[in-house]
Amino acid sequence: MKIQPFLYKKSDKKTWDDVFQSPCPVEVESLKTGTVLINRKGTINPHHPLAGYIVSQELEMPILAHWVHHQEKGDFLLDVGLDSSYFAHPRGGLEGTAVDEYQQDRHENIAYHLKTNNINPQMVFLSHLHSDHAAGVRELSKNIPYITGKGEYQEYQPQIHGDFLEGMEELVEIDYSQAPVMPLLGASVDLLGDGSLWAIHTPGHTPGHSSFLVNGLEGPVLLAMDAAFIPENLEMGVAPSDYTWNVDLAQKSLEKIIEFLGEYPQVRVVAGHELLKMF
Ligand SMILES: [Zn+2]
Repeated sequence: MKIQPFLYKKSDKKTWDDVFQSPCPVEVESLKTGTVLINRKGTINPHHPLAGYIVSQELEMPILAHWVHHQEKGDFLLDVGLDSSYFAHPRGGLEGTAVDEYQQDRHENIAYHLKTNNINPQMVFLSHLHSDHAAGVRELSKNIPYITGKGEYQEYQPQIHGDFLEGMEELVEIDYSQAPVMPLLGASVDLLGDGSLWAIHTPGHTPGHSSFLVNGLEGPVLLAMDAAFIPENLEMGVAPSDYTWNVDLAQKSLEKIIEFLGEYPQVRVVAGHELLKMF
């Protein structure tokens, strides 16, 4: 895999107030590509003092991609969810010793959503490289840039989790250590250069994990991605511990998001496995 740095212009906006004063003609919509069963105990870190007593309970959560449509710049994807191979096979045909299993109905796969909605992504931003967020890459064009946070590919272990990036020749990385530092959220990159779409470094779930902020005319939306699997993580102030690279760091990232939301109540937030409904 060839790794290229993500090149961008540093925003002249230094505060979130500056950003929110200039909303952009951009909209975001969730696309459901399948379902995953997760356990409430672990989705909410049971060892956190605020967690109380968490019972083991299976939760059925959607596996999502998000379609960002910018009136001037076109379509973008935030994560891609699953490709159609999961319809016939819960492991998506992947081989590895720790391949996760998902469910998928007919016509839930990402390519189907792109076709029926006439979506032509200019770029694909991946919050991280877990299969429920990135396996759909397999059925998408490879002639567009795929961008993720630096540190993700280093942790990508195809021999364990299956190789869903096969066929991708180049991956573009955002180096958050060089990114502008925004108030409360820290390293943040203005992805399209007009303040419409931001990637925010929220490490912990994985090292290079990104959350995203869409600064649309209907008001800003923060997509926490797997910094919060479910809304309860945000409500309780307790980060997940399952599938988590660094639990302490994940907790810190969740806390900075909660602090940010307290400061900017106009921001809508959605968890990583929560369907975003705009209207
Ligand atoms: Zn994940």
